[in-house]
Amino acid sequence: MKPFWVSEVLERHGEKTLFVNPLPEKICTFDCVFCPIHERTAHKTEDSFHFEGTESLLLEIKNVLMNNTVEKVFIMPDGEGLANGDLESIIKLVKSFGCKVKIITNGYILNHPAYKPLMLSCDEVIGELMTVTEEAFQRLQRPIAGYTLKSYIDNMTAFRQDFKGEFNLSITLLKNHSDGKAALDFFKEAVKRIKPDHVYVETPDEGKLQQAFGVDDATIDKFRSELNHK
Ligand code: SF4
Repeated sequence: MKPFWVSEVLERHGEKTLFVNPLPEKICTFDCVFCPIHERTAHKTEDSFHFEGTESLLLEIKNVLMNNTVEKVFIMPDGEGLANGDLESIIKLVKSFGCKVKIITNGYILNHPAYKPLMLSCDEVIGELMTVTEEAFQRLQRPIAGYTLKSYIDNMTAFRQDFKGEFNLSITLLKNHSDGKAALDFFKEAVKRIKPDHVYVETPDEGKLQQAFGVDDATIDKFRSELNHK
């Protein structure tokens, strides 16, 4: 992965968007076997840290925002962005330019008291779900010891109840695990509890991960339609 990257300003869904990775290496609460970052989690932790390099990142973001029209900054970490203890400075900087803040996280620590107030200040939050049994959660997502799939959903549900912005849920379908009727029923129940504004349905779509875990288009369409049916 590339540390602390900042993209060009790109048009996404009609908005001029800047993408930012606030991490120096892959730090996450999970270590998923199907992680699209293609490397093991260097530090599996729910703590946050001050990273040398964040000052330069702040300067780079400021420079882009001063010299371009940007409507939204999408914090898209290579891992769990909350591990950067200066994320609040990044979000405050972005908001001082009148830009919206969108962030993606696996969602497990969204409701953690240390992080919840900051996450509540974002305009759009995306949480994720990828496994549908406790056994698969432990085996395929390799979370921090003590984490459970039930708590994962409880945490996102509790966060969503207090969040006034747009909350979306990204579901990743995995071949021979989360692509059948039982998985669909599990996801439907999770969606009913979490109440996201939108559900995105994806599957690994590149190289070896696609071969090992990718699900066909018809299955994705079926899940997408059933999970967005209100
Ligand atoms: S939660 Fe996301 S970033 Fe973290 S290991 Fe899993 S796929 Fe990778």
